[in-house]
Amino acid sequence: MNLRPRQQWGTIPWEPVVYGRSVLGAPLEVWKPSGRCRMLVFAGIHGEEAETTFALSRALRQLSEPSRHCAVVLASNPDGSIRGTRGNARGVELNRNFPTSDWRPDPVPHRSTLEDPRDVLLSPGAHPGSEPEVQALLALVAELRPEVVIALHAPLACIDDANQSALGRRLAARTGLPFVADVGYPTPGSFGTWGRENGVAVITYEFPLSDTDALVREHVPVLVELLTRTDG
Ligand SMILES: [Zn+2]
Repeated sequence: MNLRPRQQWGTIPWEPVVYGRSVLGAPLEVWKPSGRCRMLVFAGIHGEEAETTFALSRALRQLSEPSRHCAVVLASNPDGSIRGTRGNARGVELNRNFPTSDWRPDPVPHRSTLEDPRDVLLSPGAHPGSEPEVQALLALVAELRPEVVIALHAPLACIDDANQSALGRRLAARTGLPFVADVGYPTPGSFGTWGRENGVAVITYEFPLSDTDALVREHVPVLVELLTRTDG
């Protein structure tokens, strides 16, 4: 696929499909592929990880036509994005709200920065899958049936792939990020755990802690390659 000239990188040239609504009623948007969906890449499930949304958006805006095989969700937690919160408008940590066998009702500890203790508490939701953003994402995965889902996060600086897949290995080699099988602490109710329990391959792509320009330089080309690759 030819990429658009730089002058056109300011806009996304085709329209998304609305796959649900957030708690506040914001549209949950997916840019669908033109062919069979083999990959879904989603960003922004943590509203304070805005760099994942704009890096993926910048990659999408370089395409001259819809990706042939890859669906794109730029903001899977739009309420968190507009409010700058990790959780959604109800204060739920969406990546602990997925219906998994290890879901727990306990408050979810979070650290404000990498140096801080995990002492900020968020809710995992009233019950597994209680949040509309989670329900809609699961319905989207069921509809598109991608072979792999790539979840963008920051700033843990790793490629986390429980399946240790060839694609995960390639992403790690391409980005120079460590290739790991888990992030080193329990994540009950996470999307990755849901994927493991439901036979959906999930790769968590964690950007490093970095400034915006460096992230764009280093990771947007990798995302463009994911959206345009034709070798499966
Ligand atoms: Zn995250």
